[in-house]
Amino acid sequence: MTMPVRSLPVIQNWDCSGCGACCRAYHVPVTAEERARIEKQGWEQDEEFQGVAYFAKEGSWLAGGGYRLNHRADGACVFLGPDNRCRIHAKFGSAAKPLACRVYPFLLVPAGDHWRLGLRFACPAVAGDQGRPIADHLPEAREYAAALEADSPATVGSLPIPLQAGRIVPWSDILRIVTAVSKLLGNTAEPLERRWRTVLGLVGLCRGLKLDGGGDPKKVVTGGRLSEMVHVLGQAADEETPRTVEEVPKPGWVGRVVFRQVTAVYVRKDHGEEKGTAQRTPLGRVLAASRFARGSGRIPKVHARLPGVTFAAAEQPAGAISREIDGLLTRYYRVKVESLQFCGPTNFGVPFWEGLESLAMTFPVVLWLSRVLVAGGMGRDEAVSRAVRTVDDNFGFNKLLGLGRQKFALRLLASRGELARLVAWYAR
Ligand code: SF4
Repeated sequence: MTMPVRSLPVIQNWDCSGCGACCRAYHVPVTAEERARIEKQGWEQDEEFQGVAYFAKEGSWLAGGGYRLNHRADGACVFLGPDNRCRIHAKFGSAAKPLACRVYPFLLVPAGDHWRLGLRFACPAVAGDQGRPIADHLPEAREYAAALEADSPATVGSLPIPLQAGRIVPWSDILRIVTAVSKLLGNTAEPLERRWRTVLGLVGLCRGLKLDGGGDPKKVVTGGRLSEMVHVLGQAADEETPRTVEEVPKPGWVGRVVFRQVTAVYVRKDHGEEKGTAQRTPLGRVLAASRFARGSGRIPKVHARLPGVTFAAAEQPAGAISREIDGLLTRYYRVKVESLQFCGPTNFGVPFWEGLESLAMTFPVVLWLSRVLVAGGMGRDEAVSRAVRTVDDNFGFNKLLGLGRQKFALRLLASRGELARLVAWYAR
């Protein structure tokens, strides 16, 4: 029997708006079974498909590469129609499409005895909160969960994600911590940047805890005791966290250099119609990386929509964010936290606390990018919304973010207190 789907984000709406952005932006992998199914659909009789390959090879065979849907010269999937609708869906229904197309923008995360439902904010309709409440999509989500389980039976009864190396607690305790963190992030009485700094303070306090009792069952902290402890530590973190951004020291030189290098990965686009031009050649990639490290002059165009502005523009304070944008960002972070889309299998296998820090890192990155877009002439709200979509496109998906050096950079920023400083600095 399929595991139930839980944690429907009650604060989120979605329906496909038919913008076709996902069918232009992504390389969709297809299994042998999906290829065989599409090949039997008779597209060769359609004039539009004369001489058009449906699939392209993805990666090298040595690296275990397979096939993906092919794209036309304009960057769109070969099956995307001129009306921005999928031809396969229009002719044969949703079930005839590759599973990856059907599931997007949902994200199902296995959590022991159930699936947690998340969403990709790279989708404009998700970021825009457009459509019906997510609960209305539960029947589809169950269908996708069944298909994913059939594909990878090992997801059923998966082991809990460690809090940090060697610290394993039951799934139920992980979910208690998730609830506490989501509550802190949802406390809109505080500015979002302070909520994040408080969560980072909580992570710092919790990292040192040994919840397993060191072999003494009486000292094991679990269940209600754990909830109580996290609550008390959350209050302590709140008391210790400076109230305003002015009270937080400026990030140091090392912090800013490392931040820009991480940011260069979060704001890039490597395929689709928004592909950047700066990283087209190996030399271009080296030059772009060194300019991000230097942080002076024009920002390399690692994403087609980046305007031709300088690094200095991104250091100019932009003021407080509007209520609407606070709403978008709060939704974004609560959905990511509650669906567990920040650690474990959905974020390159990073442990729980490290995953929370990597999610916190996206906050200054989003604000950095929004400042750049504003400097290029975009309105602030639109700029933050676009920045969330760009950053979420990479978060947990861009393999560069899963490399050891990126994980090391994040640990460096968090352990030196630079992460909290960056959160405050770019929220000015
Ligand atoms: S198969 Fe259909 S849904 Fe999937 S990318 Fe192509 S056009 Fe989009």
